[in-house]
Amino acid sequence: MIDAYIGIGANLGDAQESVRQAIDRLSGLPKTRLVRQSSLFRTAPIDAGGDDYVNAVACVQTQLDAHELLAQLQAIENEFGRERPYVNAPRTLDLDILLYGNRQIDSASLTVPHPRLTQRAFALIPLLQIDPLIAIPGKGAAHLFAPAVAGQAISKIAG
Ligand code: ADP
Ligand code: MG
Repeated sequence: MIDAYIGIGANLGDAQESVRQAIDRLSGLPKTRLVRQSSLFRTAPIDAGGDDYVNAVACVQTQLDAHELLAQLQAIENEFGRERPYVNAPRTLDLDILLYGNRQIDSASLTVPHPRLTQRAFALIPLLQIDPLIAIPGKGAAHLFAPAVAGQAISKIAG
């Protein structure tokens, strides 16, 4: 079993509801169980227009290999009507693999740890909420990167 951390984001339609439903779908993936989930957070889009994002991070324990997991996440994105008209376009649902155990993966379709994890409050802050001591393979303790994202607005959504 591998602990994988999934970054979840949405900023089209009912984003909060999409994020909640996505977490529910993660718990139903084959050979996978949901271990922990962060609060929902509100963040401003980066390098893009559109509405604020709702973001969260979930930790799953899985026997899927990393590429199988990515394929499952993309199937969920597609179920939610994900379209990709241009880079950083608003999205009904984005599911990224932030961490896959302590593995470092660099294939054509998958880079893990997620290359922007240490630069994005919307991924790093929810990750630290569910595991303050977590390490990022090849980079060190995740909390060391918190000061670098301190300028990015992020607020916890109540409830
Ligand atoms: P974004 O980078 O904004 O999340 P997309 O969700 O459209 O954009 O993903 C684009 C591509 O990124 C996917 O087709 C996928 O193959 C690739 N990718 C590379 N590494 C990862 C990862 N760690 N998690 C999810 N997708 C990844
Ligand atoms: Mg993505």
